Amino acid sequence: MRIRSLTVGLAAAFAVSCPVLTAPSAAVPSAVTAQPLVVDRVLTYDARAAAEFRAAVDRGAAIWNASVDGVELRPAGAGQRADIRVVADDGWPRSLPDSLGRGTVYIGRQAIDQGHSAVRVAAHELGHMLGLPDRKPGPCSRLMSGASAGTSCTNPYPNAAERAQVEENFEGAAAGASM
Ligand SMILES: [Zn+2]
Repeated sequence: MRIRSLTVGLAAAFAVSCPVLTAPSAAVPSAVTAQPLVVDRVLTYDARAAAEFRAAVDRGAAIWNASVDGVELRPAGAGQRADIRVVADDGWPRSLPDSLGRGTVYIGRQAIDQGHSAVRVAAHELGHMLGLPDRKPGPCSRLMSGASAGTSCTNPYPNAAERAQVEENFEGAAAGASM
């Protein structure tokens, strides 16, 4: 959290010193590249097509934001192309990543209708977008055990190993991007 608030502070300072800039998001990288700081990875998501699961998707994103420091999921602004598109459909929940942090998540009603927790499903699918594979079968304490933990499992929180893996995925991504 220290790095995040420092980055935000820098961005705010930069925005104040350049009031004519209308795109503060474009100003953030240039302000930060001059500093020897690890840049936070901000991924935007669009849950407008997630229909009745929209709140569950927001909750899943908030859980990830509270669980890891290396990446942040933020709702896309109006007219902004999101990194992650979240869609409700009648199939089984699934994720189609294009690359780390980008792609389409389907919150499939089939699993919800069977009694699986929508928030756990949303957090699980977002976990795929953050680079985590399925690890099934597995206990309820493991988010990526997915449906294998049964419908009585409503845990939407990644365990310590899953959190560490996501931190590592985005640390690697940030290092790779700067080379
Ligand atoms: Zn899965």
